[in-house]
Amino acid sequence: MILSSSKVWSLFKRSLKSKRTYHAQWMVTRRCNYRCRGCSVWTDQDSSELSAEEIKRGLEILRDLGVLEIVFSGGNPLVREDIGEVLEYASRHFVTTIYDNGSMAVERIDDLRNVDFVAISIDTLDEKKNDYLKGVKGSWRRAMDAVFKLKEEGIHVGVSPTISQFNIHEIIDFTRYFIEREVPVWYCLYWYDYPFKDGMFSIGKKVDEYMITDRKALADVCSTLKRMKRENGFIYITDKTLDAVRHLALTGERTWKCKALRNFLVVDHRGRVAGCHSREPVASIFDLPEVWDSPRFDELRRRYSECTNCAYLCYIFYSVHVGFSGIIEILRDQWKNANLLIREANPPAAMSR
Ligand code: SF4
Ligand code: SF4
Repeated sequence: MILSSSKVWSLFKRSLKSKRTYHAQWMVTRRCNYRCRGCSVWTDQDSSELSAEEIKRGLEILRDLGVLEIVFSGGNPLVREDIGEVLEYASRHFVTTIYDNGSMAVERIDDLRNVDFVAISIDTLDEKKNDYLKGVKGSWRRAMDAVFKLKEEGIHVGVSPTISQFNIHEIIDFTRYFIEREVPVWYCLYWYDYPFKDGMFSIGKKVDEYMITDRKALADVCSTLKRMKRENGFIYITDKTLDAVRHLALTGERTWKCKALRNFLVVDHRGRVAGCHSREPVASIFDLPEVWDSPRFDELRRRYSECTNCAYLCYIFYSVHVGFSGIIEILRDQWKNANLLIREANPPAAMSR
């Protein structure tokens, strides 16, 4: 599936109105059917969650604030019976991505036909290793079958490995395997949650064998992916992100300031909003319009911009790409056919900003 020209045009128009936030991650459920070793979610389950109607109301609020892209995750968002309704609504207004651990995408395939991207998490081509990482036997086989079944059905599906010390030396071969089969790859970076007081919730759990100790190997992966991208459009990570991670790996220095609550925000299963999942909830999604431009939020933004406590790749990615020109950069850099679509939609200022 590719973005329709009318949607690109609508995103562009909204971006002109919006002041800041462009990306939202919505963890629509805390429930998960897997037991991944590097994850805290399954050890801290909570079945209370917003209804589909409430989520749709929240999506309208995000749309009016200028959010252009929504990523649905969890838990596993596909455990929700009503996820199809949520996705159908979200994909009318946003670039919409949903994550699955590979266990439910086939079963829920009809719910996925409206979304722009489906990300299936697979970490290695080694079946046993992958099942070990996921804590569930048979998870690798199910995930691989899901990827190729969805692809066969014309759904824009890709794989999303989490790069850790455990698989860092396999990432290039892993990438090659999928891109040769025209399956896009986009990446997460293993991280664990710094214990902030009153953080919204925890995702990454500290696991020694995942901690990236071979920083040179990480830098080499970034350089190699950057080279490979020139030959193959199925590697979905921007040059800017790769450069930022490479620099961090080699020097320990950040070339970006965190843009939590500025370029991105996170919403949890109860509708609480935070700059990122590790930080404290600062509003309910339903109160967001009243507080969004408040001095309190400006102070939080300032505070988060000084924070260096995590290196989750999605937050780096959202921090290094700014505004609509950032979205264009992402589209141009990552998504095949995007230039064509943008030309078709013909927003003249889009290319010059
Ligand atoms: S990483 Fe994802 S799939 Fe694995 S246990 Fe955590 S929420 Fe579930
Ligand atoms: S660096 Fe940003 S995203 Fe990471 S913990 Fe700090 S505020 Fe959150």
